[in-house]
Amino acid sequence: MSLFRVLLLVLFALNWASAAPRVGQYDGYTRLVLDLPKEVKYFINEQKTTLTVRLTGITLPASSSQVSSNEIKSYEIKPSGKDTLWTLQLLRPLQKKYTAFWLDGTDGKGVRLVLDLGDKSTGGQSSVQPAAAKTTSAKTVKAPPAPKKPRLRVVIDAGHGGHDPGMVGYIVEEEVTLDVALKLRDLLRKNDVEVILTRDEDEALNADKRADLTARANMANAGTVNVFVSIHVNSGPESAQGIETFIFGEPQGPQTRALAVKENGGGSVGESITKQASSYAQSILGDILVQANLTLSKQLADKVQNAMVQQLNASNRGIKAAPLMVLRVARTPAILVEIGFGTHPVEGRKLGNPAYRQQIAESIAFGVMNFLHVK
Ligand SMILES: [Zn+2]
Repeated sequence: MSLFRVLLLVLFALNWASAAPRVGQYDGYTRLVLDLPKEVKYFINEQKTTLTVRLTGITLPASSSQVSSNEIKSYEIKPSGKDTLWTLQLLRPLQKKYTAFWLDGTDGKGVRLVLDLGDKSTGGQSSVQPAAAKTTSAKTVKAPPAPKKPRLRVVIDAGHGGHDPGMVGYIVEEEVTLDVALKLRDLLRKNDVEVILTRDEDEALNADKRADLTARANMANAGTVNVFVSIHVNSGPESAQGIETFIFGEPQGPQTRALAVKENGGGSVGESITKQASSYAQSILGDILVQANLTLSKQLADKVQNAMVQQLNASNRGIKAAPLMVLRVARTPAILVEIGFGTHPVEGRKLGNPAYRQQIAESIAFGVMNFLHVK
């Protein structure tokens, strides 16, 4: 576990018109996050105890705020011609100990400018390193010490098992998910990835569904796991087919919510677990680190979903958010893949074919390795 302790000082639901940076205090540094449209560029200038960030091509409304942090006293945002100046008053000269980088926006449209002020190397291990490593235009003024590359570790969750068979159609879900999980394990191992399976035989982790799903999620929460993939088979009306990938979050509509209820155990148990997962989804909206992790989950979902749809020539149902208890994973990019419909007369039968399951495993492995940047 990393040592940092999060203190969220300013929390705002933001849009660009009322842009205000979010501020978080971590061990050794202060993080500011500003939501911006994609076309904006930035230039940073440090002078003694003032850090000025020029944001080009955007005029934000003027604002200012005192900040309670170990690195900065206050900031001011004001328009300057066609640009905006974001001026930070520092408590002491940083002497170039700051980094700035872009992250994708949470809404898929904009970007987030992340500014870390202070010395990250003194603050223990940061759990947001994967995000920093994925920057598109990093201007690292002081490079953090290169971390020793640990072995990549992936947790694969074969959905259901034991007393809970999952969906039963042309195939039985618990059998298909286990077989795909084992095939995926073998493929990832060939890529020198350490793989942990939540189950490797026909068994549940706990007779109680809530405890079962929590135990699965907890296997990815140790802070040493790079990716969590849960594998499931979909069900629906006979005409429904295709692949969809889920990240944790509130559902967009009743259909997605119904899927969450099903995968959370179904019936009144699934309903109750879904409510609990929903309220957790709402409670984490202001948590910068969890949201940063969700951005990574979305990137992982993109890579896996694209690989599957292309390599399996399957219909693309897209990437969705749902309050799935097994994805309640705060520190590890986590997705749940619905690899096809066991209720569809063609797709359901294909899922019963070991060669097709091998193709499924290969496409998931391709997406995961692509995400892990080792391919
Ligand atoms: Zn399932």
